[in-house]
Amino acid sequence: MKDKECLENILESVHIIGDRLVLIENNISDMVANTADKTYYPIGIERIKDIFGVFEYEEAGGGRIKIDPIWERQNFVFFKAFERKCYLHKLVAPQFMGMMTEFYAKDMLDLIDFSNGGGVYSPRHKNHNINSNLSKHSWAGVAFDINPHKYPRGSDVKPPQEVIDICAKWGYYSGYYFRVRDPMHQEFFRFPI
Ligand SMILES: [Zn+2]
Repeated sequence: MKDKECLENILESVHIIGDRLVLIENNISDMVANTADKTYYPIGIERIKDIFGVFEYEEAGGGRIKIDPIWERQNFVFFKAFERKCYLHKLVAPQFMGMMTEFYAKDMLDLIDFSNGGGVYSPRHKNHNINSNLSKHSWAGVAFDINPHKYPRGSDVKPPQEVIDICAKWGYYSGYYFRVRDPMHQEFFRFPI
């Protein structure tokens, strides 16, 4: 069942990853994207709810939502990562901070810009459409966007491979590989091994 869900998700979400997508019939473990020797794939919203929890919320207009503040206080924490304020789900905070530390150590922080509409917390429905599922951005830091002005949704502009690889190493899947590319977007797919 798990594999079936995973497969459905891959078929739904993975666009094409050029020579990085390996497809072998009936072998789910090979139906994944490879980047820098790391195997990775997106996971569905139900799995996100299983891992990070389900909250009550109110509609807040324009597809945005207001999450139950008690649940928020119990689950989200504020961090400051190299002058960037980050509001993170507590379960994802260690890997997020690990990732930021690696960007810092490799002098790559300039490539990670959360301003101009990018960010790590945006409680809302997908694409601000009230009829859609909740966006993974609602779980602070489970998804985040980098440099939206540079890597807009729907564009073919690929962030540097090293950025994608570091994010993947820390458990974040690049939206660049979505069927409708979302190059600014990174989302949780696993806890780091
Ligand atoms: Zn996003």
